[in-house]
Amino acid sequence: MALTGLEIFKQLPQTNCKDCAFPTCLAFAVALASGKVTPEKCPHLSASARAMLTTAFAPPMALIKIGPPGQELVIGNETVLFRHEKRFEHAPGLAVLIKDNLPVAEITTKISYLSSVVFKRLGENYGLDLLALENCSGEPANFKKMVAVAIEKSNLPLILMSENPEAMAAVLSMAAQRKPLIYSAQSTNYQEMTGLAQKYNLPLAVKGKGLDELAALVEKITALGHEQLVLDTGARETSQVLFEQTQLRRLALNRFKPFGYPTIAFALDKDPIQSVVKAGVFLIKYAGIVVLTSDHPADLLSLITLRLNIYSDPQKPMAVESKIYPVGNPGKDAPVVITTNFSLTYYCVANDFEASRIPGYIIPVDTDGASVLTSWAAGKLTAEKISEALQNSGIAERVTHRKVIIPGGVAMLSKRLTGLSGWEVLVGPRESSGIPSFLKREWVP
Ligand code: SF4
Repeated sequence: MALTGLEIFKQLPQTNCKDCAFPTCLAFAVALASGKVTPEKCPHLSASARAMLTTAFAPPMALIKIGPPGQELVIGNETVLFRHEKRFEHAPGLAVLIKDNLPVAEITTKISYLSSVVFKRLGENYGLDLLALENCSGEPANFKKMVAVAIEKSNLPLILMSENPEAMAAVLSMAAQRKPLIYSAQSTNYQEMTGLAQKYNLPLAVKGKGLDELAALVEKITALGHEQLVLDTGARETSQVLFEQTQLRRLALNRFKPFGYPTIAFALDKDPIQSVVKAGVFLIKYAGIVVLTSDHPADLLSLITLRLNIYSDPQKPMAVESKIYPVGNPGKDAPVVITTNFSLTYYCVANDFEASRIPGYIIPVDTDGASVLTSWAAGKLTAEKISEALQNSGIAERVTHRKVIIPGGVAMLSKRLTGLSGWEVLVGPRESSGIPSFLKREWVP
């Protein structure tokens, strides 16, 4: 049960010294209760109060890192069941399964291809997060060959999948420095697998047959002293996985210690469409890693797009910085286009501007991340703000003309904007897709 502001207040020194940057201890207590600050911001806590508050405010789910520093996938530390309650902290990792019974040449091609897939969305590059390498042949030699190829051809974090501790030990002797996830410790092998995870300080996936066995297994492994865990209930049927993922998250948030770890789920249908649909379900609720069979770019892009929609912070608008963005290599007579700093709006305009093959400048006005009509309706896209953006951006030093193109949806601002800024205002198309034809038709510097 979360502490209330008043319960926290009772633990504070109550001197109102302001060293935490809050005016009173009560204000700090309220901020702490709502998760806006952490206990260490008060430097005057007694040892017992510090211990009590640190425990009370520690995330109910452990943070797990897979992969070498700088390239690692970070999962866990989740604190809510629903995104709108606060936010989901870490987006789940997407992995594609590769089996070691394929010819080495095919494995090499697949690993090279998966490691190079990149999609550009909203100005960022996205790709696959992990390779899941399965020792399905049962032959340690095949497993070693596949892992050797992955080490040579890919920088992606690895999931090493074998139930055989000897095969796992053989590949870890060459792959441990890549900080892979060991999959998996089960009731039959958990002591050996835990020993390997401890020897190399690696995260370990624990696979149970249902929630009860999983909880018991986790308790045995943590009693051995290993805490870097990822949970698998063993379910593979969609509704059962969904049910168990939800139970795991609920119980983790209720601080049931054995389930205080991120999870892994598998969408391994032969039919790639089924695999992707399942993976989408598990991305939403509540897997930390989703392993799928399909490696088609369209499937991966669908899942990455779905993940982007969910794993953004609902308290922060998706916005780009308000500054001058050149398109191509613009000269002194290049067109200047105004839009808002809502990421989606900006990137639509940027893509369509690029498509025109006419170099120019975009100035996204700071509208707190709202789109054109929303910001106009909310009074955030006004003639004053556009005039201010023109002046503050320094665009007047980059172009010799004084013409600016505003979105067609806010044509009503043109007269006032001309009066305020002294720039001639051209009313552009309502949709960014009209930019190429508009520029070709209308732009004369
Ligand atoms: S630093 Fe601690 S004692 Fe000082 S005002 Fe903040 S909460 Fe109170």
